[in-house]
Amino acid sequence: MSNIKKVQDFLVTHAIDAALITNPDNIYYLTNFRSDPHERLLGVVVFKEEEPFIICPAMEVADVKAVGWSHEAIGYKDTDNAFEFLERAIMKRLPELTLLAIEKEHLTVDRFEILQERFPALQFAKLDRELANNRLIKDETELDCLRKAAELADYAIEVGCNEIVEGKTELEIVQAIEQAVKRKGAEKMSFDTILVSGKKTASPHGIPGHRAIEKGDFILFDLGVVYKGYCSDITRTVALGEPTDEMRKIYETVKKAQQAAIDVVRPGTLAKEVDLAARTVIEEAGYGELFPHRIGHGLGISVHEYPSLTDQNEMPLEEGMVFTIEPGIYYPNITGVRIEDDIVVTKDGAEVLTKFPKDLRIIQ
Ligand code: MN
Ligand code: MN
Repeated sequence: MSNIKKVQDFLVTHAIDAALITNPDNIYYLTNFRSDPHERLLGVVVFKEEEPFIICPAMEVADVKAVGWSHEAIGYKDTDNAFEFLERAIMKRLPELTLLAIEKEHLTVDRFEILQERFPALQFAKLDRELANNRLIKDETELDCLRKAAELADYAIEVGCNEIVEGKTELEIVQAIEQAVKRKGAEKMSFDTILVSGKKTASPHGIPGHRAIEKGDFILFDLGVVYKGYCSDITRTVALGEPTDEMRKIYETVKKAQQAAIDVVRPGTLAKEVDLAARTVIEEAGYGELFPHRIGHGLGISVHEYPSLTDQNEMPLEEGMVFTIEPGIYYPNITGVRIEDDIVVTKDGAEVLTKFPKDLRIIQ
């Protein structure tokens, strides 16, 4: 079934006239057109029966056609009022529009108010969850992109490890990694690369800077790349010089916790059971307080999507779901370790897409 058809079925089931989709990741999923519109309006309008259309900046109409969009693409110039074009295109297809589904988590308040002004009697429904659920199960084409993105992430970690030398700064290594991985086929990084060293590894979302790496440091890489619009996300923690016994203990605990979580993945396992499998290992080692985040998140066109693997989520896993498993222990002001892989739920277990070794790597 085409991805547009899934939205049409949702509209029919819920007796909603039309849907306006503005989140670029969802637009890519529905149309194969990938664009960052910045402040300009980019939208797809899907109806129960009438032909869908894309509204986009005029300069992008040719790109929309080039990716195979066979319906109307309405372009507007920077001096045009995009909402006038939107209103006209909707009215042409469905003058009786009464209920419109929108992405409430994405559409700005400003744009919502413009819609209210232009369609005074219009009611609104929420579409976000439905679209996120549509993207939960990846097909083979999507899995191939995710596999390739993961392979490039493995390569990025390998490059990073080879760059580690006492005295080199975090940002110097980031630069070398990003250059190498783009030369190898990555389109871009899927988020700002995290590369932190020493005490900075104690922050789960540290920012790389001009700190020079020292002997005795843990170095934490958290990075991902985009390949054909699909993201990878990997974390590895390595040591420069001999780590302390405590650092080794933390590392081994995280590694064991991560494997415990991977081991419970199969269709039917609840999302929360994946979190709890890792959390139990960390708690039993006495570090429960130092693991402050969920075990993982879905991965696909967005670097964070469904499913969210918290200790509360009762969603049963299904074949074709893709997510990260990334336990961590963060010892304030001392050190931190996280290990993260990208996982596909298979018929009877898990396929681990990221394959960079996880035995503690000590660089001398
Ligand atoms: Mn990550
Ligand atoms: Mn992640």
